[in-house]
Amino acid sequence: MSSNAPAHPEAVLSLKDFLVRQIQKFGPLRLDAYMHLCLMHPQWGYYQRPTPIGAKGAFTTAPEISQMFGEMIGAWMSDLCSRIPPHASPLNLIELGPGRGTLMVDLLKIQSIENVNVHLIEQSESLKKIQQKNLLQKASSLQWYSDVSTCFESISSPFILIANEFLDALPVRQFQWTLEGWRERLVTVTHNGSLSLGLDSTPVPWIQHQGQKEGDILELCPEAERLIQNLCTALEKKGGAALFIDYGASDLKAKLTLQALKDHKSLSILEAPGESDLTAHVNFGSLEKIVKKSSSTKAWPLLTQGGFLLSLGLKQRSEHLAKASPRHKAELDFAVQRLTNPEAMGMLFKVWILTSKNFPIPEPFFSQRANT
Ligand code: SAH
Repeated sequence: MSSNAPAHPEAVLSLKDFLVRQIQKFGPLRLDAYMHLCLMHPQWGYYQRPTPIGAKGAFTTAPEISQMFGEMIGAWMSDLCSRIPPHASPLNLIELGPGRGTLMVDLLKIQSIENVNVHLIEQSESLKKIQQKNLLQKASSLQWYSDVSTCFESISSPFILIANEFLDALPVRQFQWTLEGWRERLVTVTHNGSLSLGLDSTPVPWIQHQGQKEGDILELCPEAERLIQNLCTALEKKGGAALFIDYGASDLKAKLTLQALKDHKSLSILEAPGESDLTAHVNFGSLEKIVKKSSSTKAWPLLTQGGFLLSLGLKQRSEHLAKASPRHKAELDFAVQRLTNPEAMGMLFKVWILTSKNFPIPEPFFSQRANT
């Protein structure tokens, strides 16, 4: 075929193309399946791109803003580890969705964290390659998994799990209250071949509570719920702690929060599949209900990212660095501002800590107790 020949009429050229054909062939897609394909499709998924995160990607995360973020998480971890009773095997450090590996690189610079077994959970082949490049030779033991359950099965001693902006990437489902009950929102195709949102024709029987009025909405993240359930079981068996940092709230007030971001701007979730990041706010309240059912895991009160980082000494760290390198002062001040200001990431981003029974009290709760 000459290079000028038209593409084969059946050739699938983009994720949008692929989705339209799948839907035409097999029927409407659930939103969680749509979200998963948009983020993780092996060829066109957003996270398979060479630069999904950072200035060239759709969004910038806290570890990419400043190394001080990783240093504060490291300080939190070091403190916790220093209060764990001595144990024979090395501690396991698990990170969910490490992105470019930046947070882990910053954590591993901290001396007391050097001798840990590092476990990374990543589904994107492209990001895994970047993590390998950035992390190999930085830890004595590094292991990758595509799902956390396999990781939990493979470890037999206590662990600390960290996850920054991971839960918001897990696929959500959305439902609308109608006269017949809750009906699921699905991705369909219009007759002119564009993606559009519609409602399933039959209601779902398994959602327990009723809507108040027609049109009420509900967003669920079953994958996050399963993860927390597995985490509670693993904490019970092996002991340890988990630290989640993400945007969300304890009560999302029945809002649909799924959104698309491209080049740091928001757009419709159907507009650019695979080219935009899809993300939803984390419903920490519904996750906490799962933890409450476990008798051996404690969920600590939700904190704001700003409050958490300041309590760990972010300001003092930035002043210390600025003294050592005055030409970086403005940059350091700007980073502190972005990470902690309520108008920036300080308030929207929350910190959620879980610990197993008999594990030390994590900061900032440890100091708060000591001061009362
Ligand atoms: N924690 C990083 C990156 C956040 S972006 C940072 O703060 O910079 C979300 C990360 O989670 C990416 O690495 C993405 O590939 C990964 N990810 C998303 N969904 C996942 C899933 N279901 N399983 C494993 N990794 C996933």
